Amino acid sequence: MRLDDLSALVDDFVAGHVADYQMAAWLATVCCTGLSQEATAHLALAYADSGRRIEHTGLGRVVDKHSTGGVGDKVSLFVVPAVAACGVPVVKVSGRGLGILGGTVDKLESISGLRLALTADELCATLAELGMVITGQSDELVPGDRATYGIRDVTGTVDSVPLIAASVMSKKIATGAHAVVLDVKYGEGALLADRATAEVLADTMLQVGASAGLDCRAMLTDANQPLGQAVGNALEVREALAALRGEEIAGFSELAYEVAGNMLALGRGDDADLATCVQEVRAAVDSGRAWELMRRWVEWQGGDVAQVDDPDLLPGARHHTVLVSDRAGTLRHVGARAVGVAATRVGAGRFTHDAPLDYGAGVVVLRRAGDVVESGEPLAELHWNDADSEGAMRALRDAFVMEP
Ligand code: URA
Repeated sequence: MRLDDLSALVDDFVAGHVADYQMAAWLATVCCTGLSQEATAHLALAYADSGRRIEHTGLGRVVDKHSTGGVGDKVSLFVVPAVAACGVPVVKVSGRGLGILGGTVDKLESISGLRLALTADELCATLAELGMVITGQSDELVPGDRATYGIRDVTGTVDSVPLIAASVMSKKIATGAHAVVLDVKYGEGALLADRATAEVLADTMLQVGASAGLDCRAMLTDANQPLGQAVGNALEVREALAALRGEEIAGFSELAYEVAGNMLALGRGDDADLATCVQEVRAAVDSGRAWELMRRWVEWQGGDVAQVDDPDLLPGARHHTVLVSDRAGTLRHVGARAVGVAATRVGAGRFTHDAPLDYGAGVVVLRRAGDVVESGEPLAELHWNDADSEGAMRALRDAFVMEP
């Protein structure tokens, strides 16, 4: 499809001249028939040009990262301040949840008052002041992606290579990043289940990035288990803050440092050594600089820093139901999909467009694959307020698979 046609479709949708059901039908067609590489790049440009495009000058190389999404993926909350604290400017435009996958914007909105629909000028001012900025899409920033994303979330049109590639890359093109780390996830807790399709997605995004002049690096990562322990908005913010305070989180920290190291290496330039960059990020975390920057950023964008200082002030849940093991043995698998479904059922994600979220709800996964557990030992906690906790517990039970 030609750029002009796609721009007209996206702009008309944003303006309300194309109805939701018409857009949903077009998205479903793309899911079934795909788009050429050229049309995918055009769709990314159409989204980017639906709002303002930013150019950064005088800041050096500005970096960004994007994950295609995994259950419990709170990596952005950690890497943005951690890399910026090393002196490389980081711009990040994130989305809301998609399907059973939480979104960075939803997670961060569990901090009271935090503003995540910045204008282009506000984005630039924040980046210039702090060296980091995180925002969602807004009326000025990729509104075409914002509008389409909301429809995809509730119409089963999320797991399409061209739609994901155009959505992700449009945000990078619009916000003027010079270099981008793409964390392309595969597995049952990702949009794409198999590695081969994730490789196609990575390649598609790299080509869209190259055609827009971006220096991109892709990592392929496994999302069959939840990332870290926390799945759910405020729970994940809490866990990311703990990591920024230097806590090692099983199933999270290793990936988070690797992503951050790659971002720093891209920001520094071609000959930067990855291992040295990872060490630099560790030093920024261990010294408290990364956490302090996160705190300043929350305050700058209107958030309640008391909740950063004391995460017990973040939204919570009145009920905690513990799932215990019904026998002794070794865990073969902890299924990210079932954990994501359980978290969504208690309100951490949406089943319908604009459904309200319960920021305090979710799951804390206490055990990982390979762990030896006793009969009666806690495996996970379901945090819930007013929700279908029985259905969620059923899903959660299915997540834990023991060796036969
Ligand atoms: N992240 C995005 O920004 N868009 C997608 O479609 C999937 C993940």
